[in-house]
Amino acid sequence: MNTHHSDILVIGAGPAGLHAAFYAAWRGLSVRVLEARGEVGGQLSALYPDKRVYDVPGLPGKRAAEVVTHLLRQLDGLNVDMRVNTVARQLEKVDGGWRVSTDGDTFTAGAVILAAGLGTLLPRAPRVPGADDHPDVRTDFPDAAGLGGRRVLIVGGVPQAARAALELMDAGAKVTLTHSRALFRGSPMTLEKLEAARTGGGLEILALARLLRLTPQGAELEVDSAARSIGADTVLILGGYLPDLSPIGTWPLDWRGDYVPDGPGGRTALDGVYVVGDLAQSGGDFKLISVAFAQAAVAANHAAHHVMPELRVRPGHSSEKR
Ligand SMILES: Cc1cc2nc3c(=O)[nH]c(=O)nc-3n(C[C@H](O)[C@H](O)[C@H](O)COP(=O)(O)OP(=O)(O)OC[C@H]3O[C@@H](n4cnc5c(N)ncnc54)[C@H](O)[C@@H]3O)c2cc1C
Repeated sequence: MNTHHSDILVIGAGPAGLHAAFYAAWRGLSVRVLEARGEVGGQLSALYPDKRVYDVPGLPGKRAAEVVTHLLRQLDGLNVDMRVNTVARQLEKVDGGWRVSTDGDTFTAGAVILAAGLGTLLPRAPRVPGADDHPDVRTDFPDAAGLGGRRVLIVGGVPQAARAALELMDAGAKVTLTHSRALFRGSPMTLEKLEAARTGGGLEILALARLLRLTPQGAELEVDSAARSIGADTVLILGGYLPDLSPIGTWPLDWRGDYVPDGPGGRTALDGVYVVGDLAQSGGDFKLISVAFAQAAVAANHAAHHVMPELRVRPGHSSEKR
């Protein structure tokens, strides 16, 4: 296990963390972002990727997933190292800053910006009889390239289920998509493509269907009151994502319920640790992307000054700089 140092360590790659990373890196600091999930974007990617968002400044009516794409684009060319599948678990004071431990590597930084939102948005565990008997049960959006040529059963109606079905079909997997309701969630374009794939025979859809149990060879379902066995090399159970603050819940941050109190500049009770976004108490009921952006801009500039006192807190105008 290695230790990696950066000027600033951001925890969480939702809109607050991504914008904080931008600002700190744009001020010339090295930034590392730790994200528990396999993809960045926080709630926008996990909970509502296909919904249109109307109140993000400058991007009216974009789908949430597109907002994330734009936030990432703003990091192009900046010194930001993004670590996905990495849960921050311990925080300790060290000389010159803070050390954050994960299940693997350890990260040190002069300042930490906490942008953990509602907590880790990790997949729900499968609650299906026989889940331990099947050799390849997964609960998160897969890397489609690794599943070409395999028989994949996808269970669930969340937007990721429809998207996974189409991506896996395109990658050459033999896909069966099943859900306990008749309707799947997703963008109109995704749902149109899904219907076209179904009528064109590219994949099979079984809905309404009840997943009864998994077997070593696949699954047993009830479809239209009749039992049906499906052979599957991989079973993908997409049941949504659960917020969990427990990995950072014991950090001495003077917690107020699910909030961390934030003073001027996003300061917390710990010197050199800042909080932004949905986790910051000052936002209160205003759990909004635009509020997260403003908090991130303020905290990142204070954190930059904390790490490099020769940098002024105020960033100046980006329009005046190259
Ligand atoms: C259905 C829905 C619709 C919404 N619509 C709108 C809207 O139209 N307009 C609007 O402004 N807002 C909307 N919101 C709210 C908006 O999504 C949130 O305010 C915003 O996502 C908060 O950003 P954040 O970065 O603070 O937190 P999050 O988006 O929650 O991101 C936090 C990230 O931190 C990661 N994380 C947490 N703990 C750890 C850890 N220990 N280690 C590593 N990573 C960790 C999580 O995995 C997550 O990716 C909506 C929310 C929902 C649920």
